Order: sequence, then structure tokens, then C-alpha cells
Amino acid sequence: LADGANGDHDHSEPTMSKPFANEPPVDFTLDQSRQAMRDALAAERAAFGKDWPLVIGSETPTSGQWIDSVNPAKPSEKIGRVTAATKEQAEAAVQAALAAAPGWRATPADKRAAILDKMAALMREERYRLAALEVFEVGKAWVEADGDLAEAIDFCEFYAAEMRQLGRPQATFAVPGENSMQEYIPRGVGLVIAPWNFPLAILAGMTVAALVTGNTVVMKPAEQSSIVAARFMDLARRAGLPPGVLNLLTGHGEDVGEFLVNHPKIDFIAFTGSKEVGLKIWEAGGRTGKGQAQLKKVVCEMGGKNALIIDEDADLDEAVVGALYSAFGYQGQKCSALSRLIVLEACYDKFLARLVEATSNLTTQAPEEPATNVGPVVDKEAYERIKRYVEIGKGEARLAFEGKAPEGEGYFVAPTIFAEVPPTARVAREEIFGPVLAVLKAKDLTEAIAFANDTEFALTGGLYSRSPANIERVKRELTVGNLYINRTITGAIVARHPFGGFKMSGGGTKAGGRDYLLNFVFPRVVTENVLRRGFAPVDDSGGDHKLAQAGGTSGGMPGL
Ligand code: NAD
Repeated sequence: LADGANGDHDHSEPTMSKPFANEPPVDFTLDQSRQAMRDALAAERAAFGKDWPLVIGSETPTSGQWIDSVNPAKPSEKIGRVTAATKEQAEAAVQAALAAAPGWRATPADKRAAILDKMAALMREERYRLAALEVFEVGKAWVEADGDLAEAIDFCEFYAAEMRQLGRPQATFAVPGENSMQEYIPRGVGLVIAPWNFPLAILAGMTVAALVTGNTVVMKPAEQSSIVAARFMDLARRAGLPPGVLNLLTGHGEDVGEFLVNHPKIDFIAFTGSKEVGLKIWEAGGRTGKGQAQLKKVVCEMGGKNALIIDEDADLDEAVVGALYSAFGYQGQKCSALSRLIVLEACYDKFLARLVEATSNLTTQAPEEPATNVGPVVDKEAYERIKRYVEIGKGEARLAFEGKAPEGEGYFVAPTIFAEVPPTARVAREEIFGPVLAVLKAKDLTEAIAFANDTEFALTGGLYSRSPANIERVKRELTVGNLYINRTITGAIVARHPFGGFKMSGGGTKAGGRDYLLNFVFPRVVTENVLRRGFAPVDDSGGDHKLAQAGGTSGGMPGL
């Protein structure tokens, strides 16, 4: 209606699409789902060994330098390799994105949204295959890999639906005689830098948000999950993205990543990753380089040191399961993962005993096996870092449990629990990003909240309690971006749980939330005076009024 009434805005036909709904998870209790996953794993393994080039405009160059992608459960098994881009190729990718920008920004928002829907449809078709690839490339258990696929599908469809709204200019506060419309225009050329731990969902989420709002993108995925990224690129092209709108630049973060961050023609950066890298990018974004036309925007999502409080009246059956999954799901390699469990003194011994018992039942093995609870950590560097923290923890606190990792070449670290951890201990303060849990004892809820808030991060947090007053208090006082009560503290779902933190966890943007797309646009207002004053000049020959060119005929012209 707004379109028809104003006539002079977007002339495209609005695409009809169904209301957004979350993608359901695959039900692996069904025989046919398990068989489909087994078939997909076999098919992926049979396809190992491919070389993946860069994608720059309509070219697919290589550099002669390669990054091997290996199975962390069996590092001698090579999945494939991607090209390590050179700086010249990074420059070419920026130029390709710049060249494609005018055409893409002029593409109606509905058409851009339709391409995202097509990407979601392709992901749905290839769901088992892509999930199987994640099992191999980053060591996700089946359910975790499938969850990443569902989230990626949700990001595409949710941002498409949001853009259909955002793409329509909105009237501002109305007064007679004035037509004033606010619209959103793209920022320009964006750089997406993604982590490996949600190899499709986070990469695709940041990328499609930037694309659907009319920006062109250079995509720099994490080295560890480059093949998933190459598959996403391939899928995006098949969905109908014109050449240059999205460019794939695999390579080393500290090399081409840094070069791109500082590039004057990059208008914004969407980053998700560690605090160390995020802070560097945040700072670099604040510098204005030679030839830079506008202020660089940085969307920055970083790490966490997430706490869960177990109140003395908590339902311990629920709390043990929730804590276990939050701490050890995907080997503790989620930014939302539980790493500080704060238990009230009154239930501490009982809870800890049950937690240790439950943890001892977890199976650590190669995630190809459906019964896997804990798989390998992502690479050798992560393995060595986590092992170092286990040694540090042994000097700082009591080792309450250390699981058994399978022998062999895989990067397996079994779940480890430290008890009576002092709040000042390094294992209670630093992001370990592995299956290592610090348990702290608090004398009451006041102390528990103080412990929970005593961190530089503010990402996720939670409480198990049956006391309405305590629940209300924690809702008010816990300083985290996503607070969960009586449930796990991981597993945010697009649109239901917009996700992201503040303090050293991020800049306050919420992926999967209604205002996320606003990070990728500039608001712009066009105001037209439609109260035309005075008479139009009279044409001597015929006596007709020469009406003001732009205005049409009688409406809103008080002089006539
Ligand atoms: P990372 O910071 O090591 O790498 C992230 C990306 O940055 C990679 O693509 C990497 O190549 C690139 N990079 C590295 N150095 C760079 C540089 N100097 N300039 C430009 N780019 C550079 O993080 P990671 O190991 O891939 O991911 C794990 C981290 O991500 C954890 O800290 C985790 O908490 C965080 N994370 C946060 C969220 C969130 O939503 N807040 C989500 C997932 C992961």
C-alpha cells in the first residue's frame, strides 16, 4: 500500500513469502534420519581431496599456496585444501566488490531477499551433506552439526523476511503539506571475518545480513573451516548472486585479514571471533586511512567466560543435565559455553558429586559415531592450549574429574572439572574454549551474583532456581547479553533468542534479532514540500495553467 500510495519509491512487486518459522532439527531417533546421515558421511568422505579456489568476481583463481583442511579426529585424513590468498588477490576482491556495488544496491530489496530464500532452500536440500562435512572438518557431533545447518537456514529466511519490511520506506511524523520518508541505504563494501566454531551459521549469518541490505562483501572465513566456507560460496552463487556481489577470500587472518581490515575501500567489518583479534579490528576500524570516504563501522562479537548459578533449591536433576550440556556440548567450543559453575554452599557437595558422576558417563570419541558426546577439539593449537590450562588448573584448584580421551592421533581432550576454584584463578577468569569447567562455591546468592559478574566478559549466563524472588533478582542483576533461567545457557535460536553480548564480549549487536540489519545500513530521509504556493504561470496562447512539473494536478495545491 505504501508503495502504491507514494508511487515514486520501489516499483518492484513485493514477493509473497510465508511468515518466518524456525527450521526444526533433524530427529536422529528415526532410522531413516540416521541412515541419511551415514550415507552423507560416506559420500563426503568419498569426495575428500578437492582443491578449492578463491572466488573474485567471476574468476576462480588460486595462488599456488594452499591451506590443508584435516579431520581433527584423525589429522592424517585430509579433507581438501583451499588457496591461501595473496594481498594482490585481496585487493582484487575489494575491487570486484566495488564494481558490483552499484548494480546490487539498485536491485530491489525483495529480489535480494528472494536470493536468501533460495540459499536457505539449497541448504535444506544439502542439509545432511553439509552437516556431515562439519562432522569431519570441525569435529561436531551429529546433533551439533545439524543445529548449525538449522541456524544457517534460519538466518537466511529471517533476514530475508526482515528486509522485506526494512526495504519499504516509512513515513516519518506526518504533517499536512509535507511528505517525509525514511529509508535505509547500504553502507557499501563489507568485510566478513568469521570463526570456525559455527562454520556455516555465523559465516552465513553475517554475510547474508550484509548482502540482503544491499552491500557487496568480501568473505574471509576461518582457516579451520575453509571447506565449509567454500561450499557456502558455491551455494550462494547457485542461488543467483551476481558475480562480485560476494567474494571468497580464504587465507590467513593475520595476513590478508589484516590487510583487508585496514583497506580504505572497506566500509564496514562484521567480525566474530576472539577478544584478542576483535580488539585489534575495533581499533583499526577507528583509523581513517588515505582515500577512505566514510567512517568504518565494526560489528564485533567476541568471547565469553560464562557463568551458571545453581541455587540451593534448584531442581538438581534438571541442573546437572543443563550444566553438563552447556559445558561440554561441542567440547566447550561455543562462545556461549558454560565455563564457571557457581554452586551455593547448601547444595554444593551433593550437586558436585552428581555432576562428576554424570560427566563420567560422557563418551569422548570420533564424532562420526552417532553416540558421541564429546569429539576432538578443532586443531593442534587448541589442543595444546587447553592442555596447558588443565595443568594450570591443577596448580590452582582441586581436580574433581578428568575423563579419558581416546588414544591415537586425534585432538581429543576429555571433559575436565576443577572444584573449589578460587574466583581469582586463571581457569576461572580466562576463556579456555574447551571442555574444562571451573566450579566455584558461593556462600549465598549475593556472593554467587558477585562472582558471576566479576569478569571482563558479558555474553551468556544462567540460573537454576525454584525461588521466584531469586529468579527476579538474578534477572535484574546478572550483567550478560543473554540470560537463561532453568535451562541450558547455549543453543540460542534465531529470532527467539537474539544473540550477543557487551563488555569484552561485543559491541551490543544481536545476531538473529530484529535490529541486526540496521548495522549494515545508513538511514536516510527524503522530505518533499507538497504544499505548493502561488499560481503556476498562465500560458498566454491557450489560457491553461502550466502546472508545476513534479506535482501532477489538483491535489494539495491550495492556490488552485
Ligand atoms: P579468532 O579470533 O582466532 O579468529 C576469527 C577470525 O579472525 C578468523 O577468520 C581468523 O582468520 C581471523 N583473524 C585472525 N587474526 C586476524 C587479524 N589480525 N586480522 C583480521 N582477521 C584475523 O577466533 P576463532 O578461534 O576462529 O573463534 C573462537 C573465538 O570466537 C572464541 O573467542 C569465541 O568465544 C568467539 N566467538 C564469539 C561468538 C559471539 O557471537 N560472540 C560466536 C562464536 C565464536
